[in-house]
Amino acid sequence: MDYPSFFKARIADLKQEGRYRNFANLERLAGRFPTALYHDPSGSNREVTIWCSNDYLGMGQNPKVLNAMHDALDKSGAGAGGTRNISGTTKYIVDLESSLSDLHHKDSALVFPSGYTANEGALSTITSLLPDCHVFSDALNHASMIHGIRDGKSTKHIYRHNDLNHLEDLLKSSPADTPKLIAFESVYSMEGDIAPIKDICDLAQRYHAMTYLDEVHAVGVYGPRGGGVAEEQGVMDRIDIIEGTFGKAYGLMGGFVTGNSAVIDAIRSYSGNFIFTTALPPVLCAGALASVEYLKTSSVERNIVRQNARLLKSKLDSLGLSYLPGDSHIVPLMVGDSTCCKALTDSLLQNHDIYVQPINYPTVPKGTERMRLTATAVHTTTHIDHLVLSLKKIWTENHDLLNLRAA
Ligand SMILES: *Cc1c(COP(=O)(O)O)cnc(C)c1O
Repeated sequence: MDYPSFFKARIADLKQEGRYRNFANLERLAGRFPTALYHDPSGSNREVTIWCSNDYLGMGQNPKVLNAMHDALDKSGAGAGGTRNISGTTKYIVDLESSLSDLHHKDSALVFPSGYTANEGALSTITSLLPDCHVFSDALNHASMIHGIRDGKSTKHIYRHNDLNHLEDLLKSSPADTPKLIAFESVYSMEGDIAPIKDICDLAQRYHAMTYLDEVHAVGVYGPRGGGVAEEQGVMDRIDIIEGTFGKAYGLMGGFVTGNSAVIDAIRSYSGNFIFTTALPPVLCAGALASVEYLKTSSVERNIVRQNARLLKSKLDSLGLSYLPGDSHIVPLMVGDSTCCKALTDSLLQNHDIYVQPINYPTVPKGTERMRLTATAVHTTTHIDHLVLSLKKIWTENHDLLNLRAA
C-alpha cells in the first residue's frame, strides 16, 4: 500500500468538505491581549484582535500570575522532574490542590496535566470501579468526558441536551439497585447555555446517583469566588465531583478534579491518566495558584465579562444577526455551513484584522457550523463596535453565499 497517498486522500476529503483546519499563526503580546501579532503565510505580520479566546478574564497576562511564575521558575527550575509517583510531587502542586479544595468546599483535589486528562482519568476510573455502573451523559458533553466514559466499564445512557424529562425517563428505566453517575457540564462551550444544575441534583438524589460536573468554562468566571455556576447557584455542596481547568479563565494550562477524599484518593490510586504522566511543573502550579487565589477575591474581571457579553448580544440584536440564546458569556453566531463559515472568518481576518476560528464538524454537528465569539474582560467597547460593524459588512458582502446555505 502507498501509505502517504492514502493519508493525502483523507486530507483531500476534509478539504472537499470545507472542514480542513488551518491554524492561524499568532503571537500573543503580554499586556496587550486581545491584540496579537498575526504571522500570515506570506511571511509578513500585522496586529489583529482575537475574538475566540478562552482566556476570558485576561489572566494570561495578569501581573500577579506572571510574577508568581517568574518566581517559581527562578526558585525551582523548569520541569516537575517526574510523575507524581516518582519525584514529581512538589510543594507547588500540593499548595495548589489545597487552594482548589477550598475553592469548591471539597475534602480533596487532584491536579492533572490538562482538563482533558482529568475528565478521562476521573470518569474512566469511577465507572470502572463501580460494579455494574449506569452512566447518564448529556448529549453535548465534551469529547474528554465521552472518551473517559467509553474507557470505563458501564452501561451508557445519553440524554438529550439539558432535557430533564429524558434524563428522568432513563434513570427510571434503569435497575434501582445499581450504582449510577450523571455526567454533565455547567456552561456548554459551543452552545453558550447553562445546565439546570439544581434540577439535575434533585433527580440524582431521587434516583441515588452520583453527580459529576465539568465546570471548565465556568471556573473563575461564575460564583462570588470563581467557584463556577454551581457556586453561583448555591448548589456546590450537592455535586459529588467538580472538574475544572486552568487552561481557560485561569489563563494557563492544567486540569483538576475535586470531591470526597475517598473518591479523589481512588482516582489518584487507580487512574492511568494520572499515574503514568509527568506532573504539572512548579511554574504552572505557581501561576495557577496565583490566578485561582486572585479570582477568589476579585470580581472586577467577572463583572466586565458579563457587561461585555450583554453589550455584544444587544449590538448583534440591533443588526439582526442571530446567535444562540444562552445565559453565559459565550456567543455562538450561527452560520450553518462549513464552507461559508470558513469564507466568513477568512474575510474577517483578511479584511478586518479580526481572528475568529470557524467551528465545524466534528466539534459541532454538520449544518450547525458557527463562529464562537467570546467577549473577554479585556475587550473594550471600541473592540465590540469594530467586531459587529465588520460582521454586518461581511454578512452583506456574502449575502449570496449565506442565502445559498439557507436554500
Ligand atoms: C476545553 C475543555 C476541556 C479540556 O480542558 P483542557 O484543560 O483544555 O484539556 C474539558 N471540558 C470541556 C467542556 C472543555 O471545553
